[in-house]
Amino acid sequence: MFVNIGGLEIPVLLKGKKSMKDNFACFCHNTESIHVLSTMDPALRRKTLAHECFHAFLFITGHNELLGDISENFEEALTRAFEQHLGLYMFFNKEIEEWIKGGT
Ligand SMILES: [Zn+2]
Repeated sequence: MFVNIGGLEIPVLLKGKKSMKDNFACFCHNTESIHVLSTMDPALRRKTLAHECFHAFLFITGHNELLGDISENFEEALTRAFEQHLGLYMFFNKEIEEWIKGGT
């Protein structure tokens, strides 16, 4: 599955518990892809995808560098604020909504 962020197709890959270590998900800067733990329920998967899309947006636009200059934790704090408020209203297309419901 892919999400389109700023015109870029970002792969979203489901990963097993071993490769995710203690994380639910991450945006990988090296491969420019989103990794999501495969065992999450749809509500958590939706919220997590919104969170990682925002990380990807910050990376693509170079804002992660600017935020990192201010504080190591700034990006994560801003992303969590987004996830809690705007992330709930984020629009995903039909294909992504099907993936959220349990697609692979
Ligand atoms: Zn995060």
